[in-house]
Amino acid sequence: MTAFQGTVPPIWLKPSVYQALGKHLASVLPHEACGVLLGAAAAGGMRIDTYLPMRNVAPDPLHAFVPHPADWISALYLAPPPIGLFHSHPLAAPQPSSADLDGLTGLGDHFAVYLIGAPGKEPANPILLNGYSIQRTRTEGGERSVSLIETPLQVLLK
Ligand SMILES: [Zn+2]
Repeated sequence: MTAFQGTVPPIWLKPSVYQALGKHLASVLPHEACGVLLGAAAAGGMRIDTYLPMRNVAPDPLHAFVPHPADWISALYLAPPPIGLFHSHPLAAPQPSSADLDGLTGLGDHFAVYLIGAPGKEPANPILLNGYSIQRTRTEGGERSVSLIETPLQVLLK
């Protein structure tokens, strides 16, 4: 695997997933959209095949997301379970907030991909999307630490 040597291997998105993320983001504005990503580790990165939108039941859905418990539970019981989480920032840049970083520890170890979207500036590009890899490490004291590594996104041609 020399193609991405020295860099983080990309997250590959099916075009249908890219479109679904943009559609969901737009359809719930001005609220935050959220959902899970299904896929698998692929040669040279992670491949996302399917997006499952979830209802956002946060008390303040303009600035936060909390997946509907029924949606969340049914997603976690899928086999294989989701490998990624998506949510949107309707009013801010698609970069992790401190609340987003705090929420990482609550995600099961099968979550490897973290996507954040924001509304695009032109109709041709309905979504600005940033990709992150979820990295889990242990400190010398044995404490679990979870962080996000910025990761290039690639949309598959078909
Ligand atoms: Zn966020």
